[in-house]
Amino acid sequence: MDFAQLPHPAPVPGESRAQAIADPGFGSVFTDHMVTIDYHADHSGDLGGWHDARIGPREALSLDPACAVLHYAQEIFEGLKAYRHPDGSFALFRPYENARRLNQSAERLAMPTLPEDLFVEACRQLVLKDRDWFPDIEGGSLYLRPFMFASEAFLGVRPAREYKFIVIASPVGNYFKSGVPAVSIWVSQDYVRAAPGGTGAAKTGGNYAASLVPQAEAIAKGHDQVVFLDAVERRWIEELGGMNLFFAFADGSVITPPLGGTILPGITRDSLIALLRDEGLTVREERYAIDQWRADAESGRLVETLACGTAAVVTPVGKVAGPDGGFTIGSGGPGQLAGKLRDRLVGIQKGTQPDPHGWVVRL
Ligand code: PMP
Repeated sequence: MDFAQLPHPAPVPGESRAQAIADPGFGSVFTDHMVTIDYHADHSGDLGGWHDARIGPREALSLDPACAVLHYAQEIFEGLKAYRHPDGSFALFRPYENARRLNQSAERLAMPTLPEDLFVEACRQLVLKDRDWFPDIEGGSLYLRPFMFASEAFLGVRPAREYKFIVIASPVGNYFKSGVPAVSIWVSQDYVRAAPGGTGAAKTGGNYAASLVPQAEAIAKGHDQVVFLDAVERRWIEELGGMNLFFAFADGSVITPPLGGTILPGITRDSLIALLRDEGLTVREERYAIDQWRADAESGRLVETLACGTAAVVTPVGKVAGPDGGFTIGSGGPGQLAGKLRDRLVGIQKGTQPDPHGWVVRL
């Protein structure tokens, strides 16, 4: 599919752009352009109902008040980063995995799938168009947010017949301003994130809306993040609001909760499993109980707990507040494995270390 190139009538002047990307923080500065592709159920063509791919000025959307997404929440999204390599070229990290996950989310939400190549091409077009928006700072990258929503105007609970797929970009710095602190997490007792048969494995806005109250509760109690337990037994550790978890033991083995449909299949999670196995460590995708977590932390059998995701990469968990009070993991500070994995992953992403798994896609 060819992308129409729509001219930008008023791009952000170079000086204002330089100012905006000098210290962009995370998620509040946006580039000049966006990619849009429309879908109509009755549109015939090579790509089924997808048509009119275009890259143009980033601008506000005009939506009918009966637009289906505003009522029935048919919406899915992705998050991935583009990096500038030392030779000045641009690269994406495992973008086909994001394309596949978007399509898995689409299937769960009764939305149309998008050809994987079209997803990656949309990301490529935007990165190259907005290449001047890369923050030239340590840890800087361009965060891409592809998303799809039901744009048809109608009231009634059925899959919409019209959708939009859009990609926007945000220059970002390090998620944590000064180094990587160990975070403290709160085990939610009153709320769950996902139940068997629900939408936990899909990256859909509703899952995040539902996590806001438990996350606010964690903050109110003095913690950084909330961790969710399974909905059935309220015993098995699932994930944080936006990160997967790994548990590393003194005997060199590592456990991460299995993908049973209630947790998001993180691409960082999948990458860390491979990197840990490269290191000769045994990784098991296995359920791990909250009381075992405490017992293992107290006995010293557990040496580190890591949270991982695209935004914050690898984050050590130092303290946990559970149903029976708090406990500390290791020294309560960042552990060795967290630092090592983070350096290895970031090195691959930025093109400063070998990429034996072929994860980097040059643009
Ligand atoms: N779990 C949840 C609920 C998330 O939102 C994310 C972020 N996408 C992750 C885990 C980590 O996924 P990834 O490594 O693909 O960013």
